[in-house]
Amino acid sequence: MIHLDNVRFRYPSGEFRLEVPQLSAAAGEKVAVIGPSGSGKTTLLNLVAGILAPTAGRLEVDGIALTQLGERQRRDFRAARIGFIFQDFGLIDYLDVLDNIVHPCRISSALKLTSEIKQRARQLARQLGVSSRMNHHPAKLSHGEQQRVAICRALLLGPKLILADEATGNLDPKNKMLILDALFQAVATQQATVLAVTHDHELLDRFDRVIDFRDFLAVSPEAA
Ligand code: ADP
Ligand code: MG
Repeated sequence: MIHLDNVRFRYPSGEFRLEVPQLSAAAGEKVAVIGPSGSGKTTLLNLVAGILAPTAGRLEVDGIALTQLGERQRRDFRAARIGFIFQDFGLIDYLDVLDNIVHPCRISSALKLTSEIKQRARQLARQLGVSSRMNHHPAKLSHGEQQRVAICRALLLGPKLILADEATGNLDPKNKMLILDALFQAVATQQATVLAVTHDHELLDRFDRVIDFRDFLAVSPEAA
């Protein structure tokens, strides 16, 4: 599902460099990503999502070489196949919950907002316990509700790949487990791959595998 081969990245400004010799995740695999703050975990998710483009190397997601797509094609690819739960949720203040959930259909000209998709949005909202909030704006929701709306949005189009950036951050232990249950249950029904950044070490044994960013720092370029 995900293959990185000698991927290098640097931001136009700043000193930070990311170098990933090899990283793969199989279809249906649940992979946790851990590592110190500033080590490049969010950068990695943005590369895999095609939001950022590598400076060198090969990056393949769901059989597509992202490095060969233009920016617009990458955006369409992302909207159709990747569910991204951002660290700050990325909900849009002036849209209500329903419109936030169906937002992937609005950012990609390749996707149509059909009544089936709206139906699916409502069904996900029920499953995640936010269906009574459909006409509210994000500011009216609790932190946990915002998080669950972000998950509904990420799952809307049945993505093959789910990227979650500290999706359980700032929650109490019980709600952490609930969020992860909801995510994994949805993932199981659609056989998706999950790549999830987390600081919650007590959640790690629920994943199939852990990638530790300290491994990349060890091989990466102060040396070079
Ligand atoms: P993490 O998610 O592991 O905390 P990030 O991927 O957010 O780390 O950041 C890795 C490094 O890249 C940090 O040193 C950060 O300051 C730097 N960085 C992040 N975004 C940018 C940017 N847009 N321009 C320049 N440097 C950035
Ligand atoms: Mg981060």
